[in-house]
Amino acid sequence: MAEDANKLRRSPGRGYSAHREWLLARHGPVCAYCGRETPAETITLDHVRPRRGQSAYDRPDNLVLACRPCNAEKADKSLMAFLLGKRARGVFLLHYGDHLSDPLQDLARSVSERPLLERENRKTA
Ligand SMILES: [Zn+2]
Repeated sequence: MAEDANKLRRSPGRGYSAHREWLLARHGPVCAYCGRETPAETITLDHVRPRRGQSAYDRPDNLVLACRPCNAEKADKSLMAFLLGKRARGVFLLHYGDHLSDPLQDLARSVSERPLLERENRKTA
């Protein structure tokens, strides 16, 4: 029900708001996907890798700050698809997500680097 969802959003759990404060203190009110400064009142917490129901879901190493447009656009996409949509997202995520778990940082790194160079297959001698 929409009403329930709204209620949930307005009264985040204690851990949830603590994570938010922690991220704000660490990175400032900046979207981790587009690098845009966003008023702290409207910036959202985004679960980088959606894995509802798992215990790691709400851990700080799966959370970043995101502006509403980015959060809304990512909502129905996989992380990979979302990052590949705009390569800059991977770059920003690397910068503002330096607290994320290693697999997530690796993913952001590979997405932000992959299109630039195709490895060193051809060694010019
Ligand atoms: Zn954004």
